[in-house]
Amino acid sequence: MNIILFGPPGAGKGTQAQFIVKKHNYFQLSTGNLLREEVKLRTPLGREIESLISNGKFASNEIVNTLLRQSIINLKFRDRIIFDGYPRNVEQAKNLEIILGELDQSIGHIIFLNVSKNIIEKRIMGRMTCDKCNMTLNEFFNKEQIELHPCGKEFLKRRKDDNFDIVVARYETYMKTTKPVLDFYSKNANFTEIDGAAEIEQITNKINDVLNV
Ligand code: AMP
Repeated sequence: MNIILFGPPGAGKGTQAQFIVKKHNYFQLSTGNLLREEVKLRTPLGREIESLISNGKFASNEIVNTLLRQSIINLKFRDRIIFDGYPRNVEQAKNLEIILGELDQSIGHIIFLNVSKNIIEKRIMGRMTCDKCNMTLNEFFNKEQIELHPCGKEFLKRRKDDNFDIVVARYETYMKTTKPVLDFYSKNANFTEIDGAAEIEQITNKINDVLNV
């Protein structure tokens, strides 16, 4: 059973995906991470992606869909994928249905983490992401965990697109382009909305309740 974690940038999708991975033995498929891996390779495509991401713009559907398909067809991910950051527009939502249909897979749960713009700004401005394991921590809320991070705290870095102006641009893009995906999904029986402003542990518990049904 595959899961979509849906919500604005900074809603906590990555953080919650990491918990689901550990507890329910899932694979996190973050299109943001796939794109950042491509950037690290310094290929012409990676450079193109870097300039888009660092300006708060989306990568093209063509690029993202290709990277996504390559991951989904990897058999070890079969029916245990958490989609984090995908779909981000209606065309991607339709594309996901087509790819999963072709592979005889489906979406078991769509979980929407609903958070206001105010909270998102505070969370993103403190976010640190590990270059090695992709774990996200917050420099204001996780001081001790940062010091003790197993990969070494020197690998925890601010993302280039986590600055105030870009965060505002990313939120606006979410409202305009990604929120319509909610209409696409919200009438489905497997759609659940969770208050993403709650404490991390409370959100995790609610997600566990949904997944254990
Ligand atoms: P994220 O790590 O999910 O916050 O994504 C970081 C950035 O990668 C986004 O602001 C977009 O520029 C790009 N990105 C991630 N996922 C997608 C997607 N599904 N479609 C287009 N661009 C994406």
